[in-house]
Amino acid sequence: MSAPRAVPGAPPGAPPGASPLVEVSDLVVNYRVRVRGARSHAVVRAVDGVSLTVGRGVTVGLVGESGSGKSTLGRALLRLTPAAGGAVTFEGHEVLSAGRGSLRVLRQRAQLVFQNPIGSLNGRMRVGSIVREPLDIQRIGDRASRPQRVRELLDQVGLPAGAEHRYPHELSGGQQQRVALARALAPAPSLIVCDEPVAALDVSVQAQVLELLKEVQRATGVSYLFIAHDLNVVRHLARETYVMYLGAVVERGASSSLFERPRHPYTQGLVAATPVADPARSSPPPLLRGEIPSPMDVPAGCRFHTRCPFARDRCRTEVPVLAPTPDGGAVACHLWEELPRAAASGGTLLSGR
Ligand code: ATP
Ligand code: SF4
Ligand code: MG
Repeated sequence: MSAPRAVPGAPPGAPPGASPLVEVSDLVVNYRVRVRGARSHAVVRAVDGVSLTVGRGVTVGLVGESGSGKSTLGRALLRLTPAAGGAVTFEGHEVLSAGRGSLRVLRQRAQLVFQNPIGSLNGRMRVGSIVREPLDIQRIGDRASRPQRVRELLDQVGLPAGAEHRYPHELSGGQQQRVALARALAPAPSLIVCDEPVAALDVSVQAQVLELLKEVQRATGVSYLFIAHDLNVVRHLARETYVMYLGAVVERGASSSLFERPRHPYTQGLVAATPVADPARSSPPPLLRGEIPSPMDVPAGCRFHTRCPFARDRCRTEVPVLAPTPDGGAVACHLWEELPRAAASGGTLLSGR
């Protein structure tokens, strides 16, 4: 028998024949908003034709400035925010048109963990009940086995015995995030969308929670779509990273390559603006100038042209497509082959025109 072939789009390292866990194709999410003084609604193009793949048992990073559409993408692929177009498959099943039964399975198998645990935990419930609730609602296990399962989950996220009797406000921020993770893990999901899960925590606690996420992944094989502003965090955790700008993916690639030598001028700017951990290495000056434009008025041509130091006439009219790069990534820039590739630590390039 011949060896199974890798599925196109499966991430590097996925076992041959394994289909991706999540496949997002050309996803579009719009918000209709009222504009003061205007009769009609305006359309916010929050996610504007994004394709993305998450393999099994891996972490995929999603970065970009505030307002680039990261949370909207994460919510839309879980069908928590309606999409206007495109397709999402999860474990081989179409998500956007799923009926009640399939949606119930999706609600078990795909979870969301937010930045602010105290906002996502019911302050009137004790920790044990918070973690148990999804088991009750989704009728997972039986009444007799659930208390034991709750204790296992609390143990898995490193909470001390007795934590189940406490209220969320009696716990530290890091412990609250552990409760949120235990609750998310309760239905044994294969995917957790982690939306800035450590952004509200102190740096030392962040490191502990990130380590915990890795341990949980090793133990359960869960995949993470990990949304963050902090590139250092994503670099530490994600095998592959997508960079979003104003609703679109402008670059993706293996994190090692993307963060060491970014190709897209926007990624170069993000990397250059990231604090360097080693004080002996000087941080290059921030290269991202100006503000991200409004997603109600996305610039024509390359959406980054209003801020790009390399923009030429063509960039103002012609939309660059995501083109494959020799190292297995992809970049949406007309000039990527001509531009020097930024070294992450060098304080190099982007001299502008
Ligand atoms: P951040 O890093 O600040 O969390 P983000 O990348 O997650 O940003 P989103 O929250 O997805 O970005 O927002 C994308 C765009 O959609 C932004 O311009 C935002 O203002 C807009 N937006 C988000 N939610 C809504 C909503 N419910 N109604 C109208 N516009 C919205
Ligand atoms: Fe800059 Fe043009 Fe590339 Fe856009 S297409 S990133 S404007 S060089
Ligand atoms: Mg967000």
